[in-house]
Amino acid sequence: MNGYGGHIVKVNLSTGKAEVEETPKDFMELIGGKMFAAKYFYENVNVDDPLSPDNILLIAIGPACGTKVPMASKVGFYFVSPLTNYFGESYMGGNLMAEMKWAGIDAFFIYGRSEKPVYIYTHDTSVEIRDASNIWGTDTHKAEDMIKEDIGYKDACVATIGQAGENLVKFAVVSHNYGSIRRESKAGRLGAGAVMGSKRLKGIAVVASEKSVDVYDSDVVLIAVKNILTKISKDPKIGADTYRRYGTPATLFYGLNKGFFPSHYFTKGGSEFEEELNPGSIREKYYDHNLACYNCPFSCGKYIKVKEGKYAGLEGKHPEYETIYAFGGQNEVGSYDAIAKINEVCELYGIDTIEAGNVLALLAYATEKGRINVDGLRFGDVDAIIKLLNDIAFRKGLGDKLAEGVKRFSEMTGIEDLAIHSKGLAPPGYDPRVLKFMAFEYAVNNRGADHLRMTAYAFELSGRLNQPTLEEKINYLVNVEDRLIVFDSLVLCRFARYVYEWDDIIQILYGLTGKKYSVEELREKANYARTLIRKFNLKRGLNPERDDDISERFYKEVIKFRGTEYKITREEVKTMVKFYYKFRGWNEKGYPRN
Ligand code: SF4
Repeated sequence: MNGYGGHIVKVNLSTGKAEVEETPKDFMELIGGKMFAAKYFYENVNVDDPLSPDNILLIAIGPACGTKVPMASKVGFYFVSPLTNYFGESYMGGNLMAEMKWAGIDAFFIYGRSEKPVYIYTHDTSVEIRDASNIWGTDTHKAEDMIKEDIGYKDACVATIGQAGENLVKFAVVSHNYGSIRRESKAGRLGAGAVMGSKRLKGIAVVASEKSVDVYDSDVVLIAVKNILTKISKDPKIGADTYRRYGTPATLFYGLNKGFFPSHYFTKGGSEFEEELNPGSIREKYYDHNLACYNCPFSCGKYIKVKEGKYAGLEGKHPEYETIYAFGGQNEVGSYDAIAKINEVCELYGIDTIEAGNVLALLAYATEKGRINVDGLRFGDVDAIIKLLNDIAFRKGLGDKLAEGVKRFSEMTGIEDLAIHSKGLAPPGYDPRVLKFMAFEYAVNNRGADHLRMTAYAFELSGRLNQPTLEEKINYLVNVEDRLIVFDSLVLCRFARYVYEWDDIIQILYGLTGKKYSVEELREKANYARTLIRKFNLKRGLNPERDDDISERFYKEVIKFRGTEYKITREEVKTMVKFYYKFRGWNEKGYPRN
């Protein structure tokens, strides 16, 4: 089946039954991944509690995965998010996406809840639900090791949850690929790990006997791949060298110098620990080698080693920019070693560092303001942070409330006025008062305060957002969002955003599947999927007037950086949001017309 694995695996954990079916037509009509998930969830999923057995975990890839197409290095996790209560999507790198394709599997549909802990093991399309009672209670790394040992194959592709997922921490992640030559990765945001935990599913292991994919025209694919690789090596604006050298922490060069790196729970821009957090010094002191997802020439992952000090001996995949922001910025941890330690703790328990860093910074801020009384807690207290992460993972004491994430924690403790989130998701490291198109992105994104549906920060910083009017800029970003929705269906990594233009996507899809699309057809599919997600979220209680917005504190408080005051008004955000509705074809109030 050109470009596709040809099968889907349906596992009902309540009954213990697994079925393998042919990949349905609508999966291929919608290319795969996100666009299929949007339709599937809109038509089939109606669940009150995202942690009940009725939630469905869909794990899906697309036609480019496992082929020679560079950076088709992601697998999508789709679910109703226990953190936001809306459509959940989260993407994981590593090599699981390729192994799934080689095994002949385009998607897993996971239903129900097992009575006892289990893991799913597929060897090609033969499926087993195996007992994981002895693995339950272990961290993500140990679980991965134990599953590989149980299978008896050290190169199996395994994704696991840690204790946070088991204990239904609302922002628990799914982790994959620790200790491999390939890049360790997470399905990091919105609580996919908690959904797995609620199903008592400790892990998923995939093994393929062959490593090949049938495509429609391998010559067309090869020509397209050659063009892509030439672009990557010849065009410095694509940024491959920067990713290769620094990985995502390269964003610190800009964040610390332009002031959009938020510190002290959104009260400061930049950082007083600028020297310690400089990507050049980080590389010099800690870098050991690069890590790449399957078939990725960017290899943005860095393996680091801490050689001296309190955390000497610590090694593993580096903290990403977002983790450095969440703990180095928001919690003002001024030592890279300590951030690396916190990163390791989150990694082992299986916790999203962005939401965790934000909820802990909110706690420190509320404590500083005398609104919550936590004895001795202050910004930058590494030991307290590590203890609280432990309490979150096991839902102990205050950790039980913190495990609910920023929005619910603030409601439970009466500090909603201090909390910052959109649609229940805490923001990443781009202050929307400095980068105004991030205010727009946080307001309209289907995931909430998220930087990855358009990556507006990248287009704003690179000067690509240079259209003469605001309306044209929003139109440009909607075009980017459509293209990235197609990325999430193929499934391509976000960092290929300057690599794959529409023409490249069309050529690749033709070579892989034999289907020749126009840009208009692909954009129509993307808009259809985006609109279905909107309708799904509206059914689940989304209120556009209330929810397509950023938090009040961004309007009330200005931020100062190197003598300049940065502010944003509600009117600015509302204007951008209205343009978005228009370009999506929704009515003035943000509701799809049919
Ligand atoms: S750029 Fe980084 S995250 Fe993306 S596919 Fe390559 S190695 Fe993975």
